[in-house]
Amino acid sequence: MNKKILVFTDLDGTLLDHYTYQTDAATDMLAKLKSEDIAVIPNSSKTFSEISLIREQLQLNSPFIIENGAAVYIPINYFNAQPEGTSVEGDYWVKSFCQPKAYWLALLSDQAEDFKAYYQGFSEMTLEQLVALTGLSIENAEMAKQRHYGEPLNWLGDEQTQNAFTAHMIKLGANVLQGGRFLHISGHTDKGQAQAWLAKQYQGLAVSDTYLSQAKTTETDPKTVETIALGDGKNDIAMLEQATFAVQVRSPVHDFPELSRTENVYQSRQFGPAGWTECLEEILSSK
Ligand SMILES: [Mg+2]
Repeated sequence: MNKKILVFTDLDGTLLDHYTYQTDAATDMLAKLKSEDIAVIPNSSKTFSEISLIREQLQLNSPFIIENGAAVYIPINYFNAQPEGTSVEGDYWVKSFCQPKAYWLALLSDQAEDFKAYYQGFSEMTLEQLVALTGLSIENAEMAKQRHYGEPLNWLGDEQTQNAFTAHMIKLGANVLQGGRFLHISGHTDKGQAQAWLAKQYQGLAVSDTYLSQAKTTETDPKTVETIALGDGKNDIAMLEQATFAVQVRSPVHDFPELSRTENVYQSRQFGPAGWTECLEEILSSK
């Protein structure tokens, strides 16, 4: 059978260590996946600029999903045909699922004034403030600020107020997601929806030869696609519920978020990239 395995992965706290942002413990597994033509698809709350840099550092050439499922970026000619519903943006075919950032900023400033004192948004933070809050370098903080589809908030208030704010924003049509460090305000997108859309493209289209290792024969379509999703946070739940295999990577700062599914769920013993490698080894060796 022509079966294709795809790895969708969260970055912070999953492929990247929660504290150091390093990926060392995943290096060997990344090389193995590459040699087997298993695409590693970042699916993160991070921005286009941030993920582009990480892809470059990890030498990934596969598509990626930005800002909590807001848009899927596919290198032009990655597939043998342009997927329906995508537009061309720079070197990519782009499928977006969300209204732009300006819409959400206007909603926050015009219709959620009562909560203004309880949070600080990315847009109003200086680079220095963002650096102090995240431990990112100036360059990385600059990239983190370049959001296209939503606004992350540093919540300063208590949990009760956060719940009231969340309910209010949901009533206004926003989606509120708790990420590793920030509360993300955006549209009704999630990592699961974007992942499902992209997996479907792999099912119907063939990956171009230039994106496959030389040992492989040309891909045919359609094919059976199996997805492995790895994540550590609450904003990963939708993609973990949707995937063929769900991997919950252990976090040093919170418990495993609760999943509805129970089948094909893996929980790592180790943290971050070490846990990432541990579970992929387990799944791939069972196949
Ligand atoms: Mg995470």
